This record gives sequence, C-alpha cells and structure tokens, in this order.
Amino acid sequence: MTFEPTLAFARQLDAQDPLHKFRQQFHIPPGPAGQESLYFCGNSLGLQPRTARAAAEQQFTNWQNLAVEGHFRGDSPWMNFHEALAAPAARIVGAKPVEVVVMNNLTTNLHLLLVSFYQPTATRYKVLMEGGAFPSDQYALESQVKLHGRQPDDAIVELTPRSGEHTLRTEDIVAKIEELGDSLATVIMGGINYYTGQVYDMAAITRAGHAVGAKVGFDLAHAAGNIPLHLHEWNVDFACWCTYKYLNSGPGGVAGAFVHERYAEQPELLRLAGWWGHDEEERFKMRKGFRPMRGAAGWQLSNSAILTMAVHQAALEVHEAAGGMEVLRRKSELLTGYLEFLITRLGLSASQLEIITPADPTQRGCQLSLLVHQNGRDLFEHLLAVGVIGDWREPNVIRLAPVPLYNTFEDVYRVGEVLAEWASRQQVVQA
Ligand SMILES: *Cc1c(COP(=O)(O)O)cnc(C)c1O
Repeated sequence: MTFEPTLAFARQLDAQDPLHKFRQQFHIPPGPAGQESLYFCGNSLGLQPRTARAAAEQQFTNWQNLAVEGHFRGDSPWMNFHEALAAPAARIVGAKPVEVVVMNNLTTNLHLLLVSFYQPTATRYKVLMEGGAFPSDQYALESQVKLHGRQPDDAIVELTPRSGEHTLRTEDIVAKIEELGDSLATVIMGGINYYTGQVYDMAAITRAGHAVGAKVGFDLAHAAGNIPLHLHEWNVDFACWCTYKYLNSGPGGVAGAFVHERYAEQPELLRLAGWWGHDEEERFKMRKGFRPMRGAAGWQLSNSAILTMAVHQAALEVHEAAGGMEVLRRKSELLTGYLEFLITRLGLSASQLEIITPADPTQRGCQLSLLVHQNGRDLFEHLLAVGVIGDWREPNVIRLAPVPLYNTFEDVYRVGEVLAEWASRQQVVQA
C-alpha cells in the first residue's frame, strides 16, 4: 500500500478497517488533558476489555452464593474452568487443545517446562538462548543450570548479532546450533525478542535443534496474540506465554503453556507434580503415586486461579470475535507499516534515530523499537507529556506498539505528528 502522511488518509483507512469497531470494546486510558491517550504500550500491558470486570464479578457472585459448591455447580464450575480455556488459547498459538494449558504465570511455566525439557547429561548440557534476553528468562536459565550442578558461564551459550547489526540472522542461529551439535541439550528463545521486536524463524530453529538431538522451546510473551503461530506444525517441543501483553488479560494474569502432542502420552517424562496435574478420574481419591493427565494438563500443579482465568476468558472472546490471528495480522502489518512510514519521513539521520526492528514485515510483529542516539529520554518525556504512552528500555530504546484490536490509523498519524514536532526542534538545536 502507498501511505500518505495526512489525517484524511489515516481516517480513510480507519473507515475501511473491519476491526475498527473493536476499539469500543476496550477502556482507553485518559491522557493528560482528559482526552483519550495514544496508547502504544500493548506490548507491555494490553488494555482492559470492557467485558473483563463483569466476567470477574460473575465469579465473585458464584463464590458469594455457592461458596465451596462453586467447584461443582453454577454456570462455570471451577473444577473444570481451565478446560474451557484450552481450545481458544490453542487457537492463538496454533496448537491442539491437548497441547495447551492455562495456568500459573509465565516465569513459573518456563521453570516447569525446563524441568522436563532441559535434562542435561555429562556431555549434552548446553543451553542456547538469545543474548540480552528478558531478565526473567536469563535468571530462570541461570538457576536451572545451577540446579543441575553446572556453571551458567559454561552451560549457557548466548547468540549475539553480528557487529554493526541489531538483530540475529537465522543462518547464524542455525550455524551455532550445528556447531554445538551433540553438546546442545536445549534451545530456548523468545518467539519475538522483547527489545528489538524481531520475530525468530521458529520453524527453522526447531528443525535445526531437532537435527542435533536438542529440545526446542520458545517464550512467546511478545508473540502470543501478536503474530500467527503454528507451534504444532513447527514441531516445537514446549512454549510458554503471558496473557497480559497482547492478550489483554490483566496485570499478572494467568499464563499459558504448550507441550507438543508427542509427549502427551509420556507419563514417565520428568516433571514437578501437583494434584491438579494428576489423572482427573482419581484426583479426589487422594492416593499415593502421581499419574499425570494426558497432554499439557499434566503439568498443572494447583487448582485454578478462577478470578484471573475469568478475565482471560473474556479477553480471549474478544480475540475470537475479531476473527482470530490472521485477521488481526493483516491490520497489524498495515498499522506498523504506517508508523514506520511516518517515522522514516521525519528526516532524522541514523546517528539521531534508528528503527532497530527489522524492516521486513515477516520478521516483526506490532512493535517498532526506536534506538534514539540523541536526547532519547527527552523524546520519551515529550511523548508522555502529550499523552503518547510507549515505553522506555535502557539504555536508549523507545518501544511503540500499535495494536490492531484497539489502535487506529488516526492514533498512528497523531503519534507521527508528535514525533515530527519533536524532530523539527532537534534540527533547530543542531543548526
Ligand atoms: C513480559 C515478559 C516476562 C515477564 O515474566 P512474568 O513471569 O510474567 O513476570 C518474561 N519474559 C519475557 C520474554 C517477557 O517479555
């Protein structure tokens, strides 16, 4: 599409946008002057669906009226609550319902899955991950390696971009996997890197990992609800994600986990166990001897966090009503493309501002990461002051994520205006 830098053009795209009406289903936080803010932070915390509160309240009501009986009675008995979430969550990540379970939080799920899929031996004990991964992932890996009596410096291998580049090349990731060969136990990467917004080629990485006998998993915190995923087809071994970013399910909301179907009938696969993962038929017999449920459900520990699951369910319903990931993706490519177009037009040199997110739409999701070499903090404060909510990542990156469910082309145009106004002052200062 040929973009135009005008409000009329942005409004025309909104008028043609089949998803435009979904914005009404979210609470848009007010900006400094009471107007709607320009919210570009759905990669950090998605907005509240208008149906979320009622969904949680329904469970308060059930608790109030049914108390312990709520586990078995009412419109959505708590005993089985998580089961209804498996199918819609599976559609988000391209999996079969048996491969997905909604439980816990992201880092907890990462640990639980690593217990099963990072089982080092004397010779095969290396873990490959992206350098500069989200800190929680780094800490999780460090501690997993120590749990096996190994040194993180020895066991963890980090991928870094070539000098002068900001993102990883698939060929380099694959070459590193081949080089590690028999010493590689597990590959664990983001599906999308949180800092650069780069989408990794999960199919190619999985193939390469399997070719050397390693297990391959992905942290989909920035990918779930952002780009179409095909975990089953890609043969990924395991994955986990949070739901408060692109899945709009509330701060600290319940998370997801994926375990490929080929492990569904492997009760002997080592794992940390709890009663909720135990064979449902026998769960309340309170017998000794853990017998896991089939599939990802067999990794559950505890009874379900119903209040956050109810919110997640409401948020997933909005996703489904919008038509699913392929529909969202079509708008997302245009929205992010429009933002990129407007930033590129600012006329700033690469020594002032660079977009470090790949320019190739297939290698990115919603987010653009702006590396601001000069006065970055000043730009970020300026954005905030006029009601543009993005986020700042040390040392000098501003991340902006237009989200197809609730952001408009007009939002993007308005951000472009704010950036242009700031950019024009930069040139004056330099002259
Ligand atoms: C957001 C995010 C987290 C956060 O972990 P929680 O357990 O949900 O607090 C972890 N890893 C990545 C890659 C993230 O983007």
